Amino acid sequence: MEERDKRRVGEQIEPGGRPKAPGRLELLQRFINSHNHDFPPGWDRIGTPEKAAAWLREKGLVAPGDRISEAGVARLRELREALRALALANHGGGRPGPAEADVIRRAAGAARLAVAVDDAGRTALEPAGGGVDGAVATLLGILHEAQLTGHWSRMKGCRQCGYAFYDRSKNRSATWCAMAICGNRTKNRAYYRRRRASA
Ligand SMILES: [Zn+2]
Repeated sequence: MEERDKRRVGEQIEPGGRPKAPGRLELLQRFINSHNHDFPPGWDRIGTPEKAAAWLREKGLVAPGDRISEAGVARLRELREALRALALANHGGGRPGPAEADVIRRAAGAARLAVAVDDAGRTALEPAGGGVDGAVATLLGILHEAQLTGHWSRMKGCRQCGYAFYDRSKNRSATWCAMAICGNRTKNRAYYRRRRASA
């Protein structure tokens, strides 16, 4: 893949051409994929206060005037990696580590959500605050909804690169973001390991 395309992975491009997660879960998927650890650290879409503000604004997660501090960036990135661990744990009903569960719990403590009701009586979870707190509240609201609908269990972290992909396979058996990228890498590594071991 060329660099120009690599930089679009997670936004315009999905590895393996998979469809994105359904409904609002797509936004949470994009958040987890705002950085791919196979790519240079400088490519992190929320890696600096300016980048984070621009990305969150584009996604409607913060208001146009909201500023993001360095501490805010650190909180968002910590939450992102904890959510990635949660997605990785979706392989075969595993659990995230206690530290990751703790990060999400702490984030939830500051995340205020309100039940909004429209004229038709339809309800929606909406953030009660702004800035990073509001963005975190929205993301955790989506996590909660996806767990209720059962969609969350199909959100998986690639076993090789950690990319969050939506597993639409019937038997929920997908392991890698894309067989052509990470599946083959894993297999090649195992092949060389076996060859070395037998040499
Ligand atoms: Zn991968």
